[in-house]
Amino acid sequence: MNTAVSTAPAGNLAAPSFDVERARADFPILSRSVHGKPLAFLDSGASAQKPRQVIDAISRCYEAEYANIHRGVYELSARATEAYEGARVRVQQFVNARSASEIVFTKGATEAINLVAASWGGTFLGEGDEVVLSVLEHHANIVPWQLLRERTGIVLKVVPTDETGAFPLDACEALVGPRTKLVALTHVSNVLGTVVPVAEVVRIAHAHDALVLIDGAQGIVHQPVDVQALDVDFYCFSGHKLYGPSGIGVLYGREALLRAMPPWQGGGDMIERVTFERTTFAPPPARFEAGTPPIAAAAGLHAALDYVASLDAAAVAAHEHDLLAYASERLGALNSIRLYGTAPEKAAIVSFTMDDVHPHDIGTILDRAGVAVRVGHHCAQPLMDHFDIAGTVRASFGLYNTRADIDRLIDGLDEVREIFA
Ligand code: PLP
Repeated sequence: MNTAVSTAPAGNLAAPSFDVERARADFPILSRSVHGKPLAFLDSGASAQKPRQVIDAISRCYEAEYANIHRGVYELSARATEAYEGARVRVQQFVNARSASEIVFTKGATEAINLVAASWGGTFLGEGDEVVLSVLEHHANIVPWQLLRERTGIVLKVVPTDETGAFPLDACEALVGPRTKLVALTHVSNVLGTVVPVAEVVRIAHAHDALVLIDGAQGIVHQPVDVQALDVDFYCFSGHKLYGPSGIGVLYGREALLRAMPPWQGGGDMIERVTFERTTFAPPPARFEAGTPPIAAAAGLHAALDYVASLDAAAVAAHEHDLLAYASERLGALNSIRLYGTAPEKAAIVSFTMDDVHPHDIGTILDRAGVAVRVGHHCAQPLMDHFDIAGTVRASFGLYNTRADIDRLIDGLDEVREIFA
């Protein structure tokens, strides 16, 4: 199922059947107020709120099952190890990887991309080899490749976009050539919501024997991901954007690739045998998990994936589609607002500016009204340069948002207009 949504007007749409109020009841923080106003949380793209099930799983880990994992001979350590490796199997099932050894736990999407750049890139790429990125990328999928460029002399090619923020597949195809070794793209733009057609990109890249890395930090939140069906070589994401805890993320990599990659950090847990003369390394995924891993966060991630999987994915997608269409319609009706990102395939993220008002002022006034949005460059400065702006206001929706949250946003913007009139 592809939950990518369009920006069709929502005026005649009936609200979908997803029981959002029931879901909201799972998220304790949503019932708190901010500045004396009920919270309208529209910043899930930065980090999503956590359901009770995730919070409880983390507490349970610390209350009943906590110890350091691996090598412990005592009961608690064995239980903690089982839970940690169980979380890995849960991730494997969630993204439909072939094996749990294709799942590496990292700190987040950023660390996963750095891992691939340092280990795979540092080993297999050399002077003149090309990595294709796009102007839609988050800095997390730009800077690691620039660091690698400094070390190795690789060449970065950048797929452009147009005024709608769409991903031009033909331009991507034109950039992929005999020297391309990797196409590394975001699945969904964190600023515009643009959905990149991953399967088509993979077809193009593989036809040139290039690998594909997908930064799924935003993508996996809005649509189920099947790494085998997509045929990607690497896919990564962060737990905290997927209703799970911060401090844990995932790198999926094809087993043969991971096996060929050297460690990128050294320490405990990633070795087979250490002597002062020579060290041999554990097979993947342990090879890439030096040091004590995020044990409780893994339990939280497991619970988050269970939570997401317990919902009707099609109903959640329809709900998010409705939010996007409704927000696009209401914002589009405001004269002073300019919307960025109107590509036909979009996830539930809207970015905008307001004539003559700085995004930070808008964010501050909205905050006083209890509406939490993100303002600024969203770690996507090249995309800001493309639109020739310093920043935007971004509202990004989670499964717990409602049309009422969007009404609060619009009311807040009316207030901004009054103040700046
Ligand atoms: N990639 C995209 C598209 C993102 O939106 C983000 C975070 O906003 C990241 C990567 C980095 O994620 P993290 O900071 O969790 O590593």
